[in-house]
Amino acid sequence: MTARAVRLIVLGKQGSGKGTQCVRVASHYGIPHVSTGDMLRAAVKSASPLGERVKRTMEAGELVSDDIILEVIAARLKEPDAAGNGFVFDGFPRTVGQADRLDAMLLPEAIDAVASLEIPTGVVVARIAGRRTCSSCGRVYSLADPPRAGWTCDTCGGDVVQRDDDTEEAVTRRLALYDAQTAPLIARYRQAGKLVPVDADGTIDEVAGRLVAAIDARLAAGRVRA
Ligand code: AMP
Repeated sequence: MTARAVRLIVLGKQGSGKGTQCVRVASHYGIPHVSTGDMLRAAVKSASPLGERVKRTMEAGELVSDDIILEVIAARLKEPDAAGNGFVFDGFPRTVGQADRLDAMLLPEAIDAVASLEIPTGVVVARIAGRRTCSSCGRVYSLADPPRAGWTCDTCGGDVVQRDDDTEEAVTRRLALYDAQTAPLIARYRQAGKLVPVDADGTIDEVAGRLVAAIDARLAAGRVRA
């Protein structure tokens, strides 16, 4: 059996800890963390043509068009660290249309596992209200777990702030969008036998432990069948 890099998707509503857990998963499996939200925020920050195209949509808490997202993903997968080396997708696919286009780009069998972080909405609203994010590198902190010195990022020294789209209004809109557009992906990947549900109500270490154990079990089951 030849080992090949794992290709993962992590689904979870805003505030489920998805970004933090994807960083852990990426480091555990030695694969790049591909976050569409981080890539789009970097584009907005640098005022690139892409950033200008998506700025208002993001501030309103709405979804960027599938065409733009697929362009961003296709370009990212061509970079040397991702090409052929696996990945963990964070925030993509977000709609059934994006999942269809991902299947067309990579073949459905290319994805090894789709982890779904499960957590009640009331818990995530409280988490998002306290969430703070580094405006330079995207590292996530909270009022309960701030940087060591003031609101300056421990990793890169950037300013740690509340994201423009973490306002209550934008959060409410994003949670409704998640239910309407992303939840159907859960049914799709369950039917495809790729879904790995994970209880995301716990400490970062607890959830990371459950997530890696569940993905490992799914990878082992896939190898047995292959
Ligand atoms: P996130 O950091 O994943 O919460 O993404 C922040 C914002 O980026 C979202 O509210 C959307 O406006 C946009 N975005 C990120 N990923 C996608 C995607 N796959 N499809 C559409 N819009 C996205």
